Amino acid sequence: MSMTFADLSLAPPLLRALAEEGYSTPTPIQARSIPLLLQGRDLLGMAQTGTGKTAAFALPLLHRLAATPRPAPMGGARILVLAPTRELVSQIADGFESFGRHLQPSVTTIFGGVSQFHQVNALKAGVDIIVAAPGRLLDLINQGLCDLSQLEALVLDEADQMLDMGFAKPIERIVATLPKDRHTLLFSATMPKSIAALAESLLREPEKVEIAPPSTTVERIEQSVMFVDAADKKAALLALLRQPGIGQAVVFTLQKTIANEVCAFITEAGITADALHGNKSQGQRERALEAFRTAAVQVLVATDIAARGIDVDTVTHVFNHDLPSLPESYVHRIGRTGRAGRSGVAITLCDAEQRAWLRDVEREIGRALTVQADHPWHSEAAKNSTLRPPVLGGAPVKEIRPQEKRERKVWTEEEKLMARAAAKAA
Ligand code: AMP
Repeated sequence: MSMTFADLSLAPPLLRALAEEGYSTPTPIQARSIPLLLQGRDLLGMAQTGTGKTAAFALPLLHRLAATPRPAPMGGARILVLAPTRELVSQIADGFESFGRHLQPSVTTIFGGVSQFHQVNALKAGVDIIVAAPGRLLDLINQGLCDLSQLEALVLDEADQMLDMGFAKPIERIVATLPKDRHTLLFSATMPKSIAALAESLLREPEKVEIAPPSTTVERIEQSVMFVDAADKKAALLALLRQPGIGQAVVFTLQKTIANEVCAFITEAGITADALHGNKSQGQRERALEAFRTAAVQVLVATDIAARGIDVDTVTHVFNHDLPSLPESYVHRIGRTGRAGRSGVAITLCDAEQRAWLRDVEREIGRALTVQADHPWHSEAAKNSTLRPPVLGGAPVKEIRPQEKRERKVWTEEEKLMARAAAKAA
């Protein structure tokens, strides 16, 4: 018989919330991590989003709050979770609020790009849980507006991405203000040397839990490619979106301008859609995600920069209006469907210019995509193309040294895309 959450001895208010959420069986990372974390062990978790890792750390930390009720320290918190992006910060905070609904912990999110006013106000009386992006949190600490000297537990989520984004120093400075005697958890999708070193410096005799590489999600997703001429892409996409059985769909495009065009085109055709990309303000991005989450819009048209932030279980289809120029982005993109154990469908439109990128993707995932040729737009020219992929603008090609990429600061996903494509074409 498989394990249930009740077997994990979590506090009854948590079990009730899980039942209401419809979670009955722990995912592998939950089954392995929760017992260790309930014992207070430090943890080094290698896992991607989509594995259920948020609940894997949120549940035992909420259990701690239930088991040892005490007022939150003034100006500080009992639990701190650090995460790389504001989208992820919001998502994690939502997780704590949802699983903790019968415990009602105070949860505050802290990130840049918005006024610090409400964040500072929330902190004054102290909160149970802070979920924060490192930059703004360090700002508040430096201004004397946040004091974490009474902290009980620290989580670093998506630590590899935080280092990629240049947060190594802010993390070090934040950690220097925390008590040494604390419970520490570190999650990362990959384990480069820099992460191993960070884990070594932060964790005490950690238990290591490593969970299924991305392929397990990817295997549940039915993937295919349609070869089409560039001029037919929008029409082909629209026909796909109108097929029966499409619930909610995410459409990926190469660039922001194409995202806007595609969004306008399908909206014009009567499909509810919104665009999500780096040119949108935080408010616009949050509204777009929320409208999608509540199914007020059916289709989200996004660039790669937005791929990781889209965590909606009901996405049935991913359509790639364009191939990504970075093959690993393909895996992130299609991982927006097939979530929470469901199956999903990913269909990629490939024109002659992007044919080379499809080869890169197939090399990355270790297999060829099924070709759908039985449709009005099939293009043999695209299928047999040997064209070079497009150049995406004048990013600083000289600067790219892949072996150093993990240590590098401030490369946005879009800059990386452009630089890599420019390098390939050179
Ligand atoms: P995460 O890896 O934390 O981003 O979680 C991936 C998705 O799986 C989220 O949408 C969760 O709602 C869902 N999920 C997490 N744990 C479970 C579970 N035990 N049973 C069913 N769904 C889950």
